[in-house]
Amino acid sequence: MKKIALIIASLFSLTNTFGQSNEPKLIISHLTGDFYIYTTYNTYEGNKIPANGMYLVTNNGVALFDTPWDTTQFQLLLDSIQLKHNKEVTICIATHWHGDRTDGLEYYKQKGIKTYTTKLTDDLCKKNNKKRAEYLIEKDTIFNTGQYSFETYYPGQGHTEDNIVLWFSKEKILYGGCLIKGAEAANLGYLGDGNIFEYETTLKNVQKRYPDPKYIIVSHHNWNNINSLKHSIKMAKKLKRKNRK
Ligand SMILES: [Zn+2]
Repeated sequence: MKKIALIIASLFSLTNTFGQSNEPKLIISHLTGDFYIYTTYNTYEGNKIPANGMYLVTNNGVALFDTPWDTTQFQLLLDSIQLKHNKEVTICIATHWHGDRTDGLEYYKQKGIKTYTTKLTDDLCKKNNKKRAEYLIEKDTIFNTGQYSFETYYPGQGHTEDNIVLWFSKEKILYGGCLIKGAEAANLGYLGDGNIFEYETTLKNVQKRYPDPKYIIVSHHNWNNINSLKHSIKMAKKLKRKNRK
């Protein structure tokens, strides 16, 4: 009897292991036109957390925005893009210094991809022993890649002191990274490197500059709710008030 129970138990754990390994580690979703969202996962404080990045298929290769958080997925993302679109990633821009944005920078650099961060992000990567980009941008910059163009914008300190957003004016896509949280988010997430007093102003700067986005892409929540920026501003306002008391 004991033996049977053991066998059943081990069978169970076997199925469990299989179940886990069957969970996808990389999910690619279509956003609009040539824009795609890719999601990888990592564990933070015991919870499995998704991290979204984006890529854009152009007639001059694929532009990648941020890198996978799951370090086992760097190559798989390149392979998946190659398989799906028959194109290579040619450029990669990371939007702040944390690992969920930058971990793949060195790997992609070695693959011949042009990697970019701002100078400020690079300083913080260096200071915090994070992977660094090959090319630095000194100020808000317009990138032209293939038939597409987009701009980088530094709105001030918030999630981190260096967080930037990206804006695709033709498609009205605001890529908010970790600065903007989802409309269902309970809080502004990890603030250990953030600025709780500036966060609201910084988000309002984004809102002022891009008042009419059609899509807002956020790192750790659903991107299909356009109220994410408004909701984040509300949370940042409360946060500031709570800490001023
Ligand atoms: Zn993040």
